[in-house]
Amino acid sequence: MKENKNIYSWGHQNPFNDFSSHLKKQFNTRIQKIAVDAGFTCPNRDGSKGRGGCTYCNNDTFNPFYCSPQKTIKEQLEEGIAFFSKKYKTQKYLAYFQAYSNTYEDINVLKEYYNEALKVRGVIGLVIATRPDCINEILLDYLQELAKKYYIVLEYGIETCNEETLIKINRGHTFAETVKALEMSKNRGLHIGVHYVIGLPGDSRDDNLNHAKIISALDFETLKLHQLQIIKGTKMAKQFSETPEMFNLFSAKEYIDFVVKFSERLNPKIIIERFISESPKDLLIAPQWGGLKNFEIVDKIKKQFKELNTWQGKLYY
Ligand code: SF4
Repeated sequence: MKENKNIYSWGHQNPFNDFSSHLKKQFNTRIQKIAVDAGFTCPNRDGSKGRGGCTYCNNDTFNPFYCSPQKTIKEQLEEGIAFFSKKYKTQKYLAYFQAYSNTYEDINVLKEYYNEALKVRGVIGLVIATRPDCINEILLDYLQELAKKYYIVLEYGIETCNEETLIKINRGHTFAETVKALEMSKNRGLHIGVHYVIGLPGDSRDDNLNHAKIISALDFETLKLHQLQIIKGTKMAKQFSETPEMFNLFSAKEYIDFVVKFSERLNPKIIIERFISESPKDLLIAPQWGGLKNFEIVDKIKKQFKELNTWQGKLYY
């Protein structure tokens, strides 16, 4: 395998192309995302694609205390801003439409909600989480217009590149739809992010490493990686108790080693926004990593990069 000698081509000292340095380059101030639950659903829950949702999904893991569809968008944002502004007075905010599929509604309702968020004082843009099969040209044209004035992030859950795994997790869309959505979204002034889960049942470790190469060829800006977690109240929780042999969960140490290998194969242009997901303790069944916090894991990942004298993209070609 060839080695890419272009060490740290992203122009900062981290061994990976990290999100906070990216934000610092984009804005002169600190940026905080404020989650909003607009009360949307998703086609994998309302019956148009499926019922019961993706096997790992429990949307209770998404919502902080101020976030509830019983409140207006404005109320949720103002409460979130009141909470976060105590520590950093001058920061700006991105309204994060996070729970369920936030483009899965009538376009006029979407416009109303997005605009309600953008009118809140201190909000300079939107982060819109959705599925690759919930996007269309009309909405993209509208977001493209908004992006002339605001910072608009469109975040797609791709989860895996393996069509069989997508069926196994009841995802209800194909990888081909992911590729199409990313094609439709590019060159519009939008900031495109993707989610990818490492360790889904059906994906071997080799598959995951191969996916690092596949997603490296796609057109997007930021990547959120998640370790597979078994969450209470999900279909996967039932599968995990009935057929645990379906799963090959990572210990913390294995995961740290693995994401470094994964990152070595990633296009160095991709900004890594997140390496792990931290679900609420009371909802998490497995893997249990002894209460290690997100920042502690990221520190260990950085240490591992340094010990191995490696970096994101070292094996990308
Ligand atoms: S993960 Fe997203 S697409 Fe899947 S069921 Fe949950 S909200 Fe719907």
